[in-house]
Amino acid sequence: MIGVTENLASIRDSVAFCATEAGRQPDAVKLLAVSKKQPVSKILDAANAGQRDFGENFVQEGLEKIAKTQGNNLIWHFIGHLQNNKTRVVAENFDWVHTIDKLKTAERLSKQRPEALGPLNICLQINVDNEVDKSGIPIDSLPDLAAACAELPNIALRGLMCLPAIRAEFDEQRLPFARLRELAGQLRDNGVMTDTLSMGMSGDYRAAIFEGATVVRIGTALFGERNKS
Ligand SMILES: *Cc1c(COP(=O)(O)O)cnc(C)c1O
Repeated sequence: MIGVTENLASIRDSVAFCATEAGRQPDAVKLLAVSKKQPVSKILDAANAGQRDFGENFVQEGLEKIAKTQGNNLIWHFIGHLQNNKTRVVAENFDWVHTIDKLKTAERLSKQRPEALGPLNICLQINVDNEVDKSGIPIDSLPDLAAACAELPNIALRGLMCLPAIRAEFDEQRLPFARLRELAGQLRDNGVMTDTLSMGMSGDYRAAIFEGATVVRIGTALFGERNKS
């Protein structure tokens, strides 16, 4: 059986190769290891192989894993849907939240973030394909939400995130990622600077890297199929 250490090495190679093919620096793209519904043992395997950034979708599961991996100097990213009644523990325990789609959530996180930890890094989630029942803000509401978040004291608006509809073909996969890149450019033109495009998963990270992803969020290709329960 191929293990996490081997998968990690080959994904790292592939990410660096894609970046180079796209005319970017080989280390321009950060790998976020999505460990939801995976055992702590696999997180530790990846950590021992040098992986620092991990992503979790469920608050309680994430908190347990953060507690069990203390001392490994890991960086934790919340990438699931965040309910307002859970913002406090997220503000106190995570380093990033990729899925902000309401000003209220950002305000709560800013208020609840312990100052000693420094600002919480956030990305705004864009419903880039305008899908019904999908999290994320419509493209139209991005300028106002970004401007409001940029004013909040204890969070740092780092960039944009998307979870596009699944597309099979590489050229098709590039389209929503190109859109996210353009949106970040429009924010910049309005004076809101960001440095992060969180886009691309196991099935489409190559396309995302070609369109400027700075963070790819990879679960299955690294850890194998998730526990369904
Ligand atoms: C589960 C998840 C991923 C990882 O998906 P894989 O296809 O397993 O790589 C990435 N981003 C988000 C937001 C997720 O929920």
